[in-house]
Amino acid sequence: MSSIFYEFRARHAESAARRAAHVDVTWDLIRLEAVEPNAVRMTFANPRTTRAGKKTYRGAATLTPLVTHAEIDAELRTYEATTGHCGDCFGKGKVPCGHSVAEGTRYQPCDRCSGTGRTKP
Ligand SMILES: [Zn+2]
Repeated sequence: MSSIFYEFRARHAESAARRAAHVDVTWDLIRLEAVEPNAVRMTFANPRTTRAGKKTYRGAATLTPLVTHAEIDAELRTYEATTGHCGDCFGKGKVPCGHSVAEGTRYQPCDRCSGTGRTKP
């Protein structure tokens, strides 16, 4: 999955969901929906390969674990504790703030780490 939103907490949401629901890497994250004020439903699909050799999700099995914002926050804190990288910008020091066709993705310094990319002591 790639999108501006995915750069943020969605990566933590995905790893929290994979751990809680035992979803391995052969399943792809294909959808992410805010279904409740404090929870996100993730949809993972196990892709098939067509006779033409292409990957398809048509008719594929799906898993739809729900992750709460508290679980996503816990995953972010675990990420920071184990890597030392800021959990919002993944150590880059900048976060996407918009996108345009002409300029591509625009970035601004990360608020959480003040642009350092490291966790605060
Ligand atoms: Zn940061």
